[in-house]
Amino acid sequence: MSKDKIKGLLNQLKDKVHIGYVQFRKIQIKNIHKIKYFDYIVFIVLSIILTTTSIAIASKQLNNPAFARELSDNTPDSAPKLESISYTIKDGDTIASIAAAYNLKASTITASNNLSATSALKAGQTLAFPSMNGVYYVIQSGDTLWDLSSLNNVDVDEIVELNNLDSADMLTLGKKIFVPDVEKVKRLSRGSSISESTSSKGIWPCSGSITSKFGRRWGRMHEGIDIGAPVGTNVYAFMSGTVIEAGWDGGYGRLVAIRHANGLVSYYGHNSKILVHVGETVKKGEHIAEVGSTGNSTGPHCHFEIRKNGTPVNPLNYLR
Ligand SMILES: [Zn+2]
Repeated sequence: MSKDKIKGLLNQLKDKVHIGYVQFRKIQIKNIHKIKYFDYIVFIVLSIILTTTSIAIASKQLNNPAFARELSDNTPDSAPKLESISYTIKDGDTIASIAAAYNLKASTITASNNLSATSALKAGQTLAFPSMNGVYYVIQSGDTLWDLSSLNNVDVDEIVELNNLDSADMLTLGKKIFVPDVEKVKRLSRGSSISESTSSKGIWPCSGSITSKFGRRWGRMHEGIDIGAPVGTNVYAFMSGTVIEAGWDGGYGRLVAIRHANGLVSYYGHNSKILVHVGETVKKGEHIAEVGSTGNSTGPHCHFEIRKNGTPVNPLNYLR
């Protein structure tokens, strides 16, 4: 619904009240001896109060940016979408008033603009900030999604979804990502066990975007992630290990399974072609299969699953 449409509706409402009043007057004139003068006054006063207050409330709401954004959002039921807001400071604005208008914490605005809570605002200056609480963060060497998520207490899936991350540009150096609900992003400090933590991470088994994540979906457990990619896309061993399965396996279609150190086994399902044999040792990044849609699959994708000591775990926690 646009602002103009609401204004139109308000005008219609005003017209209706006016027509009602004119009709009332006609009746009132016809039946002047039946209607008490007092009733007439009460009606007029009430209409005036009702009309003016509803118009005042509506126009106040129209000037509220948060409300205007809500109105222009055609999909109010979907998850909140991350947008970048550019705001030009007006006379009388304070960080608190801008934050309130956008339903944000003041810290979201100060952190995004290198301001402090007491910084003076100049009219005409432009502020840029995200449409939800949190901060943007530039990926540095050694960062992993898992560390960022656990250190900042944010769900891995939430970071992936908000930033539309796919395996191709997951955490490339210098990439700017949004971390929700924090004022400052915590990361592993320099010199701490960065090399150890990154070496325990595997690589993405194929490039593409996540079409289905790990966890419950439609009441059933999805024990891996689905990475959508065209038939024939290379599938790589996510870590070094020994091939323990290479062939048809029911709903998995053409499946490759690799046993790694630390009790991990990785599974690559629905392949069109398998390039390895059971018993073969493979290196991290070795081309082991090609994406397909074999078995129980609705379209070409790699079903990537990791089990730790037999239990499926979220693969995103094991990927760089
Ligand atoms: Zn799957």
